[in-house]
Formats: sequence, structure tokens, C-alpha cells
Amino acid sequence: MDKTTLAYWQKKAAALAIEGRAFIDGEYRAAESGRTFDCVSPIDGKGLAQVADCSDADVNTAVSAARRAFDASVWSGLNPRQRKAKLLKWAALMREHLDELALLETLDAGKPIGDTTSVDVPGAAYCVEWFAEAIDKVGGEVVPADHHLVGLVTREPLGVVAAVVPWNFPILMASWKFGPALAAGNSVVLKPSEKSPLSAIRVAQLALEAGIPAGVFNVVPGGGEAGKLLALHRDVDCLAFTGSTNVGKLIMQYAGQSNLKRVWLELGGKSPNIVLPDCPDIDRAAKTAAGAIFYNMGEMCTAGSRLLVHRDIKDVFLDRLIDAARGYIPGNPLDPDTSMGAIVDQLQLDRVLAYIEAGRAEAKLLHGGSRVQQDSGGFYIEPTVFDVSQHDAKIAREEIFGPVLSVITFDSIDEAVKIANDSDYGLAAAVWTSNLTTAHEVARRLRAGTVWVNCYDEGGDMNFPFGGYRQSGNGRDKSLHALEKYTELKSTLVRLR
Ligand code: NAD
Repeated sequence: MDKTTLAYWQKKAAALAIEGRAFIDGEYRAAESGRTFDCVSPIDGKGLAQVADCSDADVNTAVSAARRAFDASVWSGLNPRQRKAKLLKWAALMREHLDELALLETLDAGKPIGDTTSVDVPGAAYCVEWFAEAIDKVGGEVVPADHHLVGLVTREPLGVVAAVVPWNFPILMASWKFGPALAAGNSVVLKPSEKSPLSAIRVAQLALEAGIPAGVFNVVPGGGEAGKLLALHRDVDCLAFTGSTNVGKLIMQYAGQSNLKRVWLELGGKSPNIVLPDCPDIDRAAKTAAGAIFYNMGEMCTAGSRLLVHRDIKDVFLDRLIDAARGYIPGNPLDPDTSMGAIVDQLQLDRVLAYIEAGRAEAKLLHGGSRVQQDSGGFYIEPTVFDVSQHDAKIAREEIFGPVLSVITFDSIDEAVKIANDSDYGLAAAVWTSNLTTAHEVARRLRAGTVWVNCYDEGGDMNFPFGGYRQSGNGRDKSLHALEKYTELKSTLVRLR
């Protein structure tokens, strides 16, 4: 059958066997309490599966299994080359199961199948491959020391790493944690979002199939309570979190209340996309600006949700932007032609619609603004654009995490930089200009972890560290710097005489 048709994916979806149990110590297990929660598809609002609702007993069992595996050195004790081989096998299995995993992501999170097959699942496999390939090449240091000493600086795995992740890129965000954490030799307990737990549960089985020993990689589905239990757990050495800034603040407190575990936070954003009057290609910039906010239904931590346009080019830019926005038509995510899928659930739909209502009161609606496709039973919102006169309006200040763009007008570079930096967040930013000096100067002044010049959201490869300034978090995912999150530095001084 033809993979480019809706019928193909609908047939595959109907035949899919979905596993909803936790994966602990190398096997699937129901929650000890017997409790489950409904996993609902945002495509049509229908139930997909019952998923184990893990609580303290399950979290404790998973952490104990992870600790046992670590202490027994079944993983950390392997030669890095051996870990690499097993991780590469795991990534190969993910690629072999591409359709199945992509389908789980699409059904669970409402993401277009064209994206889950080309970005999410291959991206997760690539992340595992990248860290697998890196781990037998990075070494320690022999450092200058007194003549009678040999000084070594080595990196060692932390032990048990817990990863708590969101729903917008379920398997990809998880892989940015488990890829480097496992490569470095740690054991991992992953808690996927309750809104999108299915792909994590499936890849855990594939990890075992690839030869990653039981207990080294565990998955405990559940709500915020399960995440909190991990963050408070005294036998967890590190909590790697991706999610909202509010929960990130709680996670830091939980670490302080328990064992001062290392806490790494990848949090929200309200990223500015600045278009200067000497923008080299207004058409491309407008198309890119639309993609920056409407791709993945705006459920992007890096969403270019604040578009700062110079007054001189505003009218022409907005015409082209709205033309580009018209190309994002919410539709069935199982249809390979769909570029905009469903909002993840009713709660998020209501949240985004509430922001749109707030926007109607404080700004001028230029495009969209409504829920659509209601007959499907699913959760769809059209691309929405507001012209905002006050840059500190609610919709221009708070992270919406939906397809809602605030356009802000400015008159000078200094004003643009000031507005761009006037935010609690600092995850990403972009500037469009033909002047090389301006590009570098503005990039330096922007307080953000990633700055794009004349592009947006580029750099899908693993070489760029990813993370934020200010309340967008700390530490960095991706790149060799990510290994710093999952290792301790040890100084060993050997006296020769
Ligand atoms: P969220 O903070 O509500 O949830 C994230 C995870 O934390 C989920 O697994 C959830 O169950 C868990 N959780 C909830 N309450 C908890 C608690 N009290 N203790 C421990 N865990 C708890 O975020 P979300 O709605 O799933 O995701 C959207 C957010 O994620 C946005 O703010 C977005 O910007 C951010 N995000 C950031 C990045 C990044 O790399 N910076 C990437 C993707 C998403």
C-alpha cells in the first residue's frame, strides 16, 4: 500500500498493538496499585490505551533496579566501545521500527505523520548514534602538576539519572537525555509526559532487545506526582528535566529538600525573531517566521512567538507572513499531506484559546483565532496572528505553547534589542539583516542560548549545545557539553616518590 496516503496510516493505526505498562528492570509491569490513566488521542478525542499510573512503589522499584544495575557495573563497567555497539544497535532498531514509533507519536501527541517519520523518530535515533559514536573518543586530561606528581582529571558516570520530559517532542526530548546519560555509563529512569507516554514505553523494549542490560533503562509513566517522587528520591543522583519554568522551579526545590541531586533544566521560551529593514529576503524571512511559530502547532520551546518587525517594512512583511500562515491548515495528522496537526489535549486547547481571548482584548487580530475541525472530536486551532501595540501585553510576554504569534513594531536596532531582551526567558532569538557587522553585534547583545542569523530553527545536528539563559533553564542538551551533565569530574593525584 502507498505510504503517502491517509488510508495507509489509518490502516496501520487500526492494527497497532499498544503497550501501556511501565518498563522496569527489563520487563513490562502494571503499576503496583493497579491504577491506570486514559491515554487519549488529540486527533479525535478517542481513547488509545490504558497506561500504568506509576506511584511511589513503582518509582522505588525502578530506582532500585537502576541502582542495582549501576552498582553491578553491568553497563558502566563496559568498555565504551561495547556500550557504543549496543547503543548503535538500539538506534538501528528505532530506525527499523520507524513507522510504528512515528505512528505512536502521531496518535498520542497529534503531530503530523510527515514530521514524526522525518524528524522525531530519526532525530531520536541520530541522537543515540551521535553519543554512541562520541563516547569512545572523549578522554580525560593529564594536567600540569608538581614534578613529583602525576595529575589526572577523569570523568565518571553519576549513577542513577532520572529524566522527566514533556509532550511536544516526546521521544526526541527524551533521547536528548537518555542518549548522553546512557553513553556516559549511567542507569536511567525516564518519566514521559502523561500526555504522550507511548513511544517511551515502546523504545524501552527495544533497548533490551539491543542488549542494554535489564535495569539500565526504565520507564515509569505517570503524572506530575511520579516526576515529583523522582525529584525527591534520595537515591537519584541527577534529575534532567525538560518542561515548563514553573515545574522547573519546583524541581530545584525538591532537590534541595532531598539529596541535592544535580538538577538540569530545559524550560520555556518566548523567543524574539527580529526583522531589520535591510532583511536580505523578505519573502523567505516571512515564510520562515510563519514556520517558526506554526510548525508543530506552535508547541515548540523555541517558537518564534514574538515577531519584531521594523516599521518601514511592516506592511509588506505582514502581507507575506499572512500568506504563509494560510498554508498551515489544521488537519488529520495521519494524512501525510497535513502540515499542522492537533493540539495535544483538551487542557492545552483551552489554555491556548484563553490566550487568544486575552489577545482579542489587548491586541488587533490579523489572522485566525478560532478552533476548527470540531466535528472530528479532536483539538485543532488555526494559525493566529496578533498585531500587538504594547510589547509587554500578556500574549507577548507569556509562553502560550500554541500557534499564536505576536507582532511587535520597532523603529531602531536599540529598541528591538531592548524589547527582545525584556523577557523572563532566554532560550532562542533570531535577527534578519544584510549587514554582517549588524548581525554579529545584535547576536552578541541578545540574551539567548541560540541565536539564528537570517534563518530560524536550523542546526538539527548534534554539534550545537541547546538550552537557555535566565528562566529558560541551565545546562545544555546536545553536543559534547551534554556529557558534562551526566558525569562527575574526578582529580587523581599520584605521588611518584
Ligand atoms: P510541564 O512542566 O507541565 O511537564 C513536564 C513534565 O514534568 C511532565 O512529564 C510532567 O508530568 C512533569 N511534572 C509536572 N508536574 C511535576 C512536578 N510537580 N514535579 C515533577 N514533575 C512534574 O511541561 P509540559 O506542558 O509537558 O511541556 C511544555 C513546556 O516544556 C513548555 O514550557 C516548553 O517550553 C518546555 N520545553 C522546553 C524545551 C527545552 O529544551 N528548553 C523543550 C521542549 C519543551
